[in-house]
Amino acid sequence: MERMKDLAYYNGRITRIADMMIPAGDRGFYFGDGIYEVAMVFHRKIFALEEHLDRMEGSAAMVRIGLPMPREEIGRLLQELADRVESECQFLYWQITRGTAPRNHLFPAGVDSNLYVYSKPWPGVEMADDYRLVSVKDTRFLNCNVKTLNLLLNVLAAQTAKEQGCQEAVFVRDGIVTEGSHSNVSMIRDGVFITHPADNLILPGVERRHMIAYCGQLGIPVEERAFTLEELKQADEIIMSSTSHPSMRVREIDGTAVGGRSEELVGKLRARYLEEVEKLREK
Ligand code: PLP
Repeated sequence: MERMKDLAYYNGRITRIADMMIPAGDRGFYFGDGIYEVAMVFHRKIFALEEHLDRMEGSAAMVRIGLPMPREEIGRLLQELADRVESECQFLYWQITRGTAPRNHLFPAGVDSNLYVYSKPWPGVEMADDYRLVSVKDTRFLNCNVKTLNLLLNVLAAQTAKEQGCQEAVFVRDGIVTEGSHSNVSMIRDGVFITHPADNLILPGVERRHMIAYCGQLGIPVEERAFTLEELKQADEIIMSSTSHPSMRVREIDGTAVGGRSEELVGKLRARYLEEVEKLREK
């Protein structure tokens, strides 16, 4: 099989990413009427595939979008597509939208949902110790647990962060820290791992879940509870996590130096993550 540098898939058609054309009638285009997932591919195997498929099913069910094919078939297809890309390490994205139809708010009748996938080479596991955050008001809707394509306020928050010389924004709603614009936020305080409960105010991140599991394995106590920005600033360590950036240590929030006082625990969590990645080699 001749492998491609990168690949896009849309309802059965395969091209390079830059060449993919999607009909303007795809409801993802004019309503953002769809859900998505991102997974990493290491050693050409999809990391945490079942967890991503679980969340995909959950998001789709919450917004009443039918899957274009059974979950198992989507999983098989994603792995087949990843196999066709040259790089062993990839950033794999897929989205499911509520079909193609003339613009009308009502669900279109008799139309299948659309599956778009792309996979591109990725340099490897990305971790960092020098994240700067800016806090922004969380004025998003109350279904942040749905991994929807509607990311306008997340986009604006990420741009604000960039313009302030920061790597990520952290949302604060009614005094409570919820999550980042494209990551979850967790902290370590007195040896305890603390993170916002997985309710409707945050996306239930796969890496957030992994870190909670690693804490269990390492004997680190976990508290899933709300905390304020002031509390976050007092934390021993602050970690932003996402699939593509699993462990970004924070050193500044709104210009104030923070964290950097529990490097050993962060190191242990990172080592557990890397062990899981290595397990894919044998799969
Ligand atoms: N929160 C938001 C708003 C996100 O967009 C993301 C990832 O894109 C996350 C959290 C982290 O989720 P995951 O660890 O599953 O990538």
